[in-house]
Amino acid sequence: MHFHILTLFPEMVLQGLHTSILARAMERGLISADAVNIRDYTMDRRHGRVDDYTYGGGAGMLMQAQPVYDCIEAVQSSLQKRARVVFLTPQGRVFNQSIAAELAQEEELILLCGHYEGIDERVLEESVDDSISIGDYVLTGGELPAMIVVDAVSRLIPGVLGNGASAETDSFQDGLLEYPQYSRPEVWHGRKVPDILLSGDHAKVDAWRHSKALDRTRERRPDLFQAYMQNHPEEKAAGKNLPDGCN
Ligand code: SAM
Repeated sequence: MHFHILTLFPEMVLQGLHTSILARAMERGLISADAVNIRDYTMDRRHGRVDDYTYGGGAGMLMQAQPVYDCIEAVQSSLQKRARVVFLTPQGRVFNQSIAAELAQEEELILLCGHYEGIDERVLEESVDDSISIGDYVLTGGELPAMIVVDAVSRLIPGVLGNGASAETDSFQDGLLEYPQYSRPEVWHGRKVPDILLSGDHAKVDAWRHSKALDRTRERRPDLFQAYMQNHPEEKAAGKNLPDGCN
């Protein structure tokens, strides 16, 4: 999977992505990411300008269509087939695990980061395939959202996580939040790891984890819990929330 991040601040994106699990995945060739500087495509060679005032008035500057368009076209023409262009914007569909899974099917992805007041609408209409928001709040730029998308999508690429199973049990994969987890020591600050996790009985451990995932989702995300129960009528019928012996 290759990510092309189009931005006015490539160093910000590259520094953030070349660490830890993603850096190792890049070294192993499982993913790659390059940051393309939109400013390199301005026609205003003298001042390197990429933004201007908005027609109709209003505060702030807007990124102009031409450098953004030329930057997208330069990346597209370097590829064997045109890639999906995703604009990071608070006006997009709100990012979640199923959108991450959908994007993980792509071989190449172009992530377009706005800055200032955003980007001239005309180039968005012409060149963008998809718009994604990372939540109902406004940031100064699309760089952090792009990094979030790269991180969440990369975790779903086979081999990126050391233990392939860990993505499967993560929150949202099955519509539930993940169960609580514990590591050594067995007792910490007087708090003991639940006995069942030390029992070696995998079936019981699985049942306990599932019950805790249900419990936690019901408490913290009633919206997810309701959707899960609708999709799993057998559990609803069994009145399953906390199976016997799993408290
Ligand atoms: N004027 C725009 C609006 O009201 O929709 C907001 C522009 S914002 C200050 C500048 C850039 O940050 C946007 O073009 C976008 O790329 C990025 N951005 C800000 N908040 C975001 C969010 N919640 N999700 C994705 N991108 C965001």
